[in-house]
Amino acid sequence: LNSTPNRDNQIFDLIQKEHNRQLHGIELIASENFVSPQVMEAAGSVLTNKYAEGLPGKRYYGGCEVVDEVEQIAIDRLKELFKLSWANVQPHSGAQANMAVFLACLQPGDKILGFDLSHGGHLSHGSPVNISGKYFQPFFYGVEKETGLINWDKVEETATKEKPKLIICGASAYSRDWDYARLRAIADKVGAVLLADISHPAGLIAKGLLADPFDHCHIVTTTTHKTLRGTRGGVIMMRNDFENPFGITTAKGKIRSMASLLDSGVFPGTQGGPLEHIIAAKAVAFGEALSDSFGAYAVQVQKNAKVMAQAFVDKGYSVISGGTDNHLALIDLRPKGLTGKLAENTLIKADITVNKNMVPFDDATAMTTSGMRVGTAAMTTRGLVESDFVRVVDLVDKVLMNHDNESVITSVRNEVNEWMKAFPLFK
Ligand code: PLP
Repeated sequence: LNSTPNRDNQIFDLIQKEHNRQLHGIELIASENFVSPQVMEAAGSVLTNKYAEGLPGKRYYGGCEVVDEVEQIAIDRLKELFKLSWANVQPHSGAQANMAVFLACLQPGDKILGFDLSHGGHLSHGSPVNISGKYFQPFFYGVEKETGLINWDKVEETATKEKPKLIICGASAYSRDWDYARLRAIADKVGAVLLADISHPAGLIAKGLLADPFDHCHIVTTTTHKTLRGTRGGVIMMRNDFENPFGITTAKGKIRSMASLLDSGVFPGTQGGPLEHIIAAKAVAFGEALSDSFGAYAVQVQKNAKVMAQAFVDKGYSVISGGTDNHLALIDLRPKGLTGKLAENTLIKADITVNKNMVPFDDATAMTTSGMRVGTAAMTTRGLVESDFVRVVDLVDKVLMNHDNESVITSVRNEVNEWMKAFPLFK
């Protein structure tokens, strides 16, 4: 490829620059990971050339014999991984997967109940700036100020009062496990469909390290690129299909299954042609996730996160809820006199990447924030273990406590770059 005539050096030089950035730095963004070379190879393959509207065996285009096989393998591997009866692997992203579920379950103006964005929820769960909050009527639950934990009684109170048609659980910045059985009881009480968005902890759930949502939640969505360590994308899953409770029938008057409504929610509801190269990369990643070595990886992600959260606590940081059950921790920087924006901007100078994040009951704006979110999925892929994460926290603390001292920051950056040579990426 390097010898391709008229090669677009402007872009390929930037890709090389990004490769170097990833190689030399410490990546603590909780939603990121490093995919394997074979996942990247599939994502960059000739499958990008193929149109394949429809589903395997039922396409609106010719020439789909090969991509049919690829997509079916992706579906079958995902079913095996999470013990499902049905899956759709076509959503281009996590937000797209959620949108397709909303289209299948809701009418404009219907009530939905989700986890508050400012407490750790995701914007696709009803935020007023997202289509989920503009087209539907959102209500929210949050965490308790004192504990940083969700109070299930309060979820029930709001659900009972508002009677939402859809209840959404799952988060972007909640470090504790979920009580899916309790949520299902609440959903049943008010006649709601229960959706779990497991985008963040999917890889840990796949390996049985966190509570299993599938027996309790009607529908489950996830991104494929966080702890699941696949290409960027989304999927929709069900362990048990069921007749839609909305009375939607086929042309022949038969009640449609949720699976068929969700398939239609993706295509033609919210997407056109699926990205078959990305679906191939998802299939490769699901194959990797089925392996024992991925199990060992997931165990290490969780162990590293516990040690990392405790190391922050030991240094006097305010970790929301006091620790973590999964791969991430959310830290309130106010007691340290810092904002999330300052932390993010200072740490990047030392080649340490985190993201600023709102914390529950934040008094700063979303562009400034009072917190930062850190996760272990990416650096565990590079091979870091518990003791390394203690060192990572030491380095983070050193930078933050010296945020106006350029020479300290430079010395940390040199240490980070030197240290990372021991953890190569992609050979
Ligand atoms: N759902 C949750 C819980 C997420 O954390 C995210 C992304 O961070 C998404 C959905 C959206 O995924 P995407 O960025 O692929 O649309």
